[in-house]
Amino acid sequence: MKPPPFTYLRARTLEEALDALAQQGAVALAGGQTLIPLLNFGDLAPATLVDINALPALGAIEETPEGLAVGALARHAQVESSPVVRRRCPPLAAAARLVAHPPVRARGTFGGSLAHGHPCAELTAVVAAAGGQIELRGAHGSRTVDHTAFAHGTFDRALAPGELITGVRLPAMDGAAWGVHEITRRTREYAMAGAVAALAVDRGVIARARVALFGVEAAPRRIGTVEELLVGAPLVDAASIAVADAARDAAVPRDDPDGDSPDYRRHLAGVAIGRAVAEAVDRGAHT
Ligand SMILES: Cc1cc2nc3c(=O)[nH]c(=O)nc-3n(C[C@H](O)[C@H](O)[C@H](O)COP(=O)(O)OP(=O)(O)OC[C@H]3O[C@@H](n4cnc5c(N)ncnc54)[C@H](O)[C@@H]3O)c2cc1C
Repeated sequence: MKPPPFTYLRARTLEEALDALAQQGAVALAGGQTLIPLLNFGDLAPATLVDINALPALGAIEETPEGLAVGALARHAQVESSPVVRRRCPPLAAAARLVAHPPVRARGTFGGSLAHGHPCAELTAVVAAAGGQIELRGAHGSRTVDHTAFAHGTFDRALAPGELITGVRLPAMDGAAWGVHEITRRTREYAMAGAVAALAVDRGVIARARVALFGVEAAPRRIGTVEELLVGAPLVDAASIAVADAARDAAVPRDDPDGDSPDYRRHLAGVAIGRAVAEAVDRGAHT
């Protein structure tokens, strides 16, 4: 398969990238792990590819007073191995390790993953769990959007034409009790269902719970009913709380391209959340 003809522009500054992206038919090229296959299959025919890889300011991963700032060009492999990410937001590093194969992780970017809006995106699920904020820049200025306002549905996000994701701000998820679990048909495939659980524990009791589901619904999102069940419970008891039942009840399965029934997908949502919480409890008990 060959892509349709296009003009290629390697932007040298953010302003140059934004000017080019403001033109009709221009799209950003980051890691190319999704965009290039879409071009090769003829699903997209942009007039111009604006390569943003020469903008190193977008690639930084930094500690902030609240947690972390991850630049849009940070590669999945960088996120996976970053000591700052492992310290301030260990579920993010664990989630990055679950994305595809090493060659895809070497090229694919955090910003590209969020921009693409795949319902099974592991990194987006951690952003949902953490209540992260997406930083956007367009020809007419900058704005910051909560993840819930950004990720509307499958491949549907609050990204205006010509707008770039420049980075993501994440509150710290540095407590010891966390788990990330996904169920795939085959190793390294997109998740059929997955979950992120991060439990803040105070004197053995769960003081705050952040639990997000991905893969099942149109976009990753926090499951409030599961979080409510967990808060106030002793950590040691959390694995026996009926979180899987609550997750099954709360899940709203999207149309499934593989034809699995909504009931089966709700079942998987329960299993994924149950396992992520059990993993968090186990990790919390051993640290
Ligand atoms: C075999 C294979 C398996 C995969 N498995 C998984 C998986 O299990 N989980 C998972 O999450 N992903 C998976 N992916 C996708 C991978 O994570 C991609 O890297 C990611 O979705 C897109 O990132 P990218 O940097 O490659 O973006 P690109 O392919 O360059 O761009 C993708 C889209 O995002 C836009 N875009 C890119 N960067 C920005 C930005 N900063 N601001 C605004 N728009 C932008 C582009 O214009 C394009 O529309 C897989 C990919 C492949 C090829």
